[in-house]
Amino acid sequence: MDFKLTEDQEMLVDAAKKISERHLQPLLLARNKRTALSKHDVLEILSKAADIGLTSARIPEEGGGMGMKMLDYGLVMEQIAPTIGLIVQPHEATTTRIYFGGSEQQKQRFVPGLMAGTLVGATGSTEPDCGSDPRGIKTTGEWSGDDIVVNGRKQWISNSTVCDVIHITCRVPKEGGGYRMGRILVDCAESPFEAEEVAMHGLCQAPLGEVSFSDCRVPAANICPDDENTAKLLTITWLANRPAVGLMAVHLGQKALDLARDYVGVRKQFGKHIGAFQSIQVDLADIETLVMSSRLLCYNALSAIDHGARANGLSAMAKRYAVDACDRAIALAMRIHGAMGLSEELGLEQMARDVRTLTIPDGTPGILALIQGRELTGMDAFRA
Ligand SMILES: Cc1cc2nc3c(=O)[nH]c(=O)nc-3n(C[C@H](O)[C@H](O)[C@H](O)COP(=O)(O)OP(=O)(O)OC[C@H]3O[C@@H](n4cnc5c(N)ncnc54)[C@H](O)[C@@H]3O)c2cc1C
Repeated sequence: MDFKLTEDQEMLVDAAKKISERHLQPLLLARNKRTALSKHDVLEILSKAADIGLTSARIPEEGGGMGMKMLDYGLVMEQIAPTIGLIVQPHEATTTRIYFGGSEQQKQRFVPGLMAGTLVGATGSTEPDCGSDPRGIKTTGEWSGDDIVVNGRKQWISNSTVCDVIHITCRVPKEGGGYRMGRILVDCAESPFEAEEVAMHGLCQAPLGEVSFSDCRVPAANICPDDENTAKLLTITWLANRPAVGLMAVHLGQKALDLARDYVGVRKQFGKHIGAFQSIQVDLADIETLVMSSRLLCYNALSAIDHGARANGLSAMAKRYAVDACDRAIALAMRIHGAMGLSEELGLEQMARDVRTLTIPDGTPGILALIQGRELTGMDAFRA
């Protein structure tokens, strides 16, 4: 076992840092922190993300993608701001789902533009009455001539207000009657629908919307093949998404640690740098431990996926632990800064809101614990 990055990984991390510092971070800083980015900005971000393989990370090289190892994907995700991650990851996961679960014609039509970052992708699974349990999905398609007409609502959908194509999970008619759970690609230009931005607690620049399909006509060719793979496809992408979201939290936790370490070396009280006080050193040691343990759990889960392990429990553990631990690390860093920690000027309060926003997508802590628990006990809390 070797915890040192390889030369290639060092280069990848370096390239990601440079793109982030030169192009992505300045774009975020130039925009209002509390409102979602425009489609123009999102396309700009995706084109830069494409340069480091993030828009096609899980597409194999023979399909024109980067075919990245998941650990490398996570290393890159760790370097970029979570706002960017929350735009790029759902986009890339959508691309991956179409590549592995779309028809040849669907792949040819959407995947090249999505990989190049000239089209924006979204995936809509969650609904107002259906969150953690996808079996409750109500959005339904009904045949009308050669089209399928979609009705229903999707909620909390990343990129939905700026997307060109949304990959939705819904009930579709089954041959011989009744419905099955299926996937449909809705092209926004061909089949318009309403999508409204929702204001959130943190990561407000990443577009997130509520989508309404009202008699939305979609050509039959946009229904994904009935391979009974819907749940499996979503799970495959969730597996690596979870530790990657954990590493977005690590990005914030590391920043909080850096700020706190700098501050204790300049701030004086009682005639001393506050870094000389033992309780402050304990807080700093705790922050570093929380960030480092989060990072290692996420790397471990991604490396297990690369080695073909069934990493459901490891991925769930990594995300649940990392987001919670980095939330605590940021809270400690805020405390070390006194009143300054609460100021908008410093930005730690924004990081606290941002890290908490990562708690919910790709599995809530409650659901992630049950996934881990299922592996520990062999008992499934989700089934009767
Ligand atoms: C920033 C952000 C981005 C998102 N992006 C997308 C996206 O791109 N596409 C998409 O489809 N969705 C997206 N979502 C939605 C997200 O996937 C859901 O919010 C999530 O699955 C939880 O669903 P819910 O909010 O309805 O909570 P619920 O499922 O209603 O859960 C409420 C609470 O009950 C707990 N709970 C539920 N069931 C159990 C159980 N069996 N045992 C114990 N506790 C339980 C949960 O842990 C939670 O604490 C996003 C959400 C956010 C915040």
